Amino acid sequence: MRTKIAAGNWKMNGLTESLAEIDALLPQISDGQTKAIICPPATLISSLAAKASGQPLSIGGQDCHAAASGAHTGDVSAAMLKDAGADCVILGHSERRADHGETDADVAAKTLAAWDNGLVAIVCVGETEAQRDAGITLQVIRDQLAGSLPDGATPANTIIAYEPVWAIGTGRTPTLDQIAEVHDDMNATLDTRFDAGFSLLYGGSVKPGNAAEIFAVSNVDGALVGGASLKASDFGAIWSALNAA
Ligand code: PEP
Repeated sequence: MRTKIAAGNWKMNGLTESLAEIDALLPQISDGQTKAIICPPATLISSLAAKASGQPLSIGGQDCHAAASGAHTGDVSAAMLKDAGADCVILGHSERRADHGETDADVAAKTLAAWDNGLVAIVCVGETEAQRDAGITLQVIRDQLAGSLPDGATPANTIIAYEPVWAIGTGRTPTLDQIAEVHDDMNATLDTRFDAGFSLLYGGSVKPGNAAEIFAVSNVDGALVGGASLKASDFGAIWSALNAA
């Protein structure tokens, strides 16, 4: 059975006072078959990891550099994330692909760096609205999976997040049939090249109000949640909907 995962991406949000959200979240989640992950900004990883220690909550980064160390001002290496207490790292988020020009090859190199340092890679793929309108969604996703995942990806070292770019932070979501179409295709694509069993997360305007119906879609094993992960009550409700699915 694939692991069910609710992962929160705080993006560039969160100060020390946000630790209170973790205090509020911990009583809402439990150990078992549904994992909870919070990916705060790098500045908060070590303090969140201290709070999560011994608790059923993993902490992740939002990006890492492909290199082990060196002259890369402002960047963070996978080893630094691990050292700060992260277990995983989001890679290839569409905001990094758009804002920093990250290519599939960059994402693949970062994925290797994550694995080398014992981090699980949460690799994001997703089509733009223009690509969906052009009817090339499935091909875009297949190409991103082919280019972003190095050989050696396994369900233990990699989680896949399907995040339609036009659904992120917009309040718009694909229809359930559209989500199923992409997730079924990703599952078949991954099964062809790798072992079966990758956890496939949907991301894009997941909220407490739509989580249960999304989690009932075939081949959806959880969610990558942006805005709604900032409030413990919302993220806790999404985790509960997944745990009940
Ligand atoms: C995200 O940033 O990965 C995301 C899915 O954001 P939101 O839930 O706010 O759409």
